[in-house]
Amino acid sequence: MKKPRSTFFHETKHLSENGLLPYEPACPFCNSVERTPIAVLQRQPDVWLMSCRVCGASSASRIPKLQTLDDYYGHYYESAAQLQTERVTFDNPERFGRHFSERIQRYLHKSMLRVLDMGGGDGTIAVQTARFLMPKGFSRIEITVVDYNDSLVVPDDSRITITHRKCLDDIASERYDFVIASAVIEHMSYPRTVMLNLLELLDNGGIFYARTPYIAPFVRIFQKLGIPYDFTFPAHIHDLGPYFWNTFIQRHADENRFRIIESRPSIVETSFAYHPARTLAAHAFKAPWYALGNLYPFVGGWEVFLRNIG
Ligand SMILES: [Zn+2]
Repeated sequence: MKKPRSTFFHETKHLSENGLLPYEPACPFCNSVERTPIAVLQRQPDVWLMSCRVCGASSASRIPKLQTLDDYYGHYYESAAQLQTERVTFDNPERFGRHFSERIQRYLHKSMLRVLDMGGGDGTIAVQTARFLMPKGFSRIEITVVDYNDSLVVPDDSRITITHRKCLDDIASERYDFVIASAVIEHMSYPRTVMLNLLELLDNGGIFYARTPYIAPFVRIFQKLGIPYDFTFPAHIHDLGPYFWNTFIQRHADENRFRIIESRPSIVETSFAYHPARTLAAHAFKAPWYALGNLYPFVGGWEVFLRNIG
């Protein structure tokens, strides 16, 4: 039987001096140097979580080298294969597929859809999304997965096709109707470039989805109280919440071309069936947001749907 897993699979790993890029004072998203340290992520060499006062992003003060991340994620999927798990970071991919389908179907008026899943593992979530979308009037859905992992699920519907690319550079001049960056931006050494490249791959009317952890508000409190916490550095390098995402287009893209469709606490990635305690806690922490809105920061993760309005 397949055992689902979740992002808790990410493990904290102490990095040595030669696994890290030099300290960079500027925010990797907006280049501002107006950043304050809010918590220590590791000692010797010290890495701090820095909060940017301009764009709201929190990022590690020292970014892991690309080679360090390659090594880390190479082992990540080897271990996943040993566990015979689906190569996704989500307990219930079907629920995620429905979540996407319900939010994007009204915006997509084509018979053939192109989906790009950046860091999509074996493509399970993209395929689940396609399965939910297919009955809504689409005749064919082509999925491209960009990932370290090159072993893909086989869709059980011949109208859904799936192909693999090792990196974004391998995608030539394609345009996509739905671009997924779910729980990947936080892992990237150069996130701004990748995010802007992904936006450029959107066809007119296409939708970009991002989901990122947003635990900086918890980390601040734990640091002050001296309570140990696991940020899972170097898997988790960046932490992005509502202020970052709600000002992302005006800061980085053309406001005449892109719009926010939805910006909200992220879907809970675990399920009651497999991780009851964590799932209950996740729902309980997110619940007050529905009454208090963005004044309440303890939601743990954020998701955003942006649309290319042409
Ligand atoms: Zn910034």
